[in-house]
Amino acid sequence: MIVVMKLEATPEQIAAVEKRLEAMGYSSHLIQGVERIVIGAVGDKKHEGASSLSLLPGVEKLVPVMAPYKLVSREVKSEKSRVDLGCGVVFGGEEVVVMAGPCAVEDEAGLFEVAEKVAAAGGKVLRGGAFKPRTSPYSFQGLEEDGLKLLAEAREQTGLKIVTEVINPQDVELLSAYADLIQVGARNMQNFALLRELGRQPRPVLLKRGLSATIEEWLMAAEYILAEGNYNVILCERGIRTFESYTRNTLDISAVPLVNRLSHLPVVVDPSHSSGDRELVPALSKASVAAGADGLLIEVHPRPELAMCDGPQSLTPEDFARLMQELHVLAGVCGRTVRAPVPEGATRGE
Ligand code: PEP
Ligand code: MN
Repeated sequence: MIVVMKLEATPEQIAAVEKRLEAMGYSSHLIQGVERIVIGAVGDKKHEGASSLSLLPGVEKLVPVMAPYKLVSREVKSEKSRVDLGCGVVFGGEEVVVMAGPCAVEDEAGLFEVAEKVAAAGGKVLRGGAFKPRTSPYSFQGLEEDGLKLLAEAREQTGLKIVTEVINPQDVELLSAYADLIQVGARNMQNFALLRELGRQPRPVLLKRGLSATIEEWLMAAEYILAEGNYNVILCERGIRTFESYTRNTLDISAVPLVNRLSHLPVVVDPSHSSGDRELVPALSKASVAAGADGLLIEVHPRPELAMCDGPQSLTPEDFARLMQELHVLAGVCGRTVRAPVPEGATRGE
C-alpha cells in the first residue's frame, strides 16, 4: 500500500504516519518524489485498521500496490530513480553510463593498461571480478582482496569508478570498502541472504538477472535489497537461457523497455555475457541504447586471446573505442548522451 501525503504535509505529520504504520506491523519507506512524498508501507499481511490511516492529518489518500514487488514498482515512484556513484557518474539520467573492463582482474599491468584505455574511450566505470563465480571449481576463482586492491589503484590512476562482484554474504563488508558499485552475478540473483546483507549497507548494487529468471523474479530480488533500506539498485539484463545454442545466452532486449515501464530503477545491459561472442557485442550494445538502457557493462581485455576467462566475448580496447564513438553518435538520436572517446594523442579536457 502507498500512503500519498498532501503537498503541504509537515515533517511531523509524515513522522506520525510512519509511526502508526510501524505500530501496525508494516515497514515504512519514505519516497521523496519530485512532485509528491509518498510512504510505501510493506508487510505480509493486510491490517484491519489500515483504512483509518486516511484520517491522519496530512494524508491525501491510500493506494493499494497491485504488483507483487512494491518498493521497486513505478506504482510507488513514478519518476526514474538516479543512482549516483559520485564525481558525475549517475545512472538513470540523460547519460548512458558505460562500464567496461576485463571479466576478471588478472594482473596489475593488464588491468592498468585496460583501465587507461577504457577511460580514454569514454567509459566511466571499470569492471573486473576479484571473486569469480565459476561453473567449474577448477577454473580460475579470482585474486580476491589482492584484486580489489588493484582495482582501487586503477581508480586512483584513472578517475574511473569501479564495479566488482560479491559472491558471499560474509564478503559484503570487504567489497563495500573497495567498490563504488557492488555486482550481484546472475548465479546469485536469488541468494536472499546476500541480497538482504546488501540491503543493509550503503553502496549501490548492480543486480544481474538470473540465468532463467522471469522479469518478475528479478524485480522481486531487487525488492529484497530495497526492503532492507538500500534504494540504490541498478538492474542488469545479461541474457537468459533459451533453446538457442549459437549464442551463449539470448539477450532479452524487450526486458529494457518493459522494466522501464514496471520499475523506476535504472536498467543496464551486459551485451558480453548475453552473446558470448565479441562480434555481436557492438550490435547488441547499440540495440540496448536504442531500447532505452541507462548503461552498458562490456568486457574489454587488452589481449582477449590470453584472457583467463571470457576471452571470446571480450572486445579489444581498439574495438571498444570504435564502439564508443558509434554509441556517442547513436545516443544523440535517442535523446541520450554517451561520453565520446578522446582523439588519439589528446587528453580529456574536463
Ligand atoms: C561477470 O559479469 O563477469 C559475470 C560472471 O556475469 P554473470 O553473472 O552475468 O554471468
Ligand atoms: Mn565474464
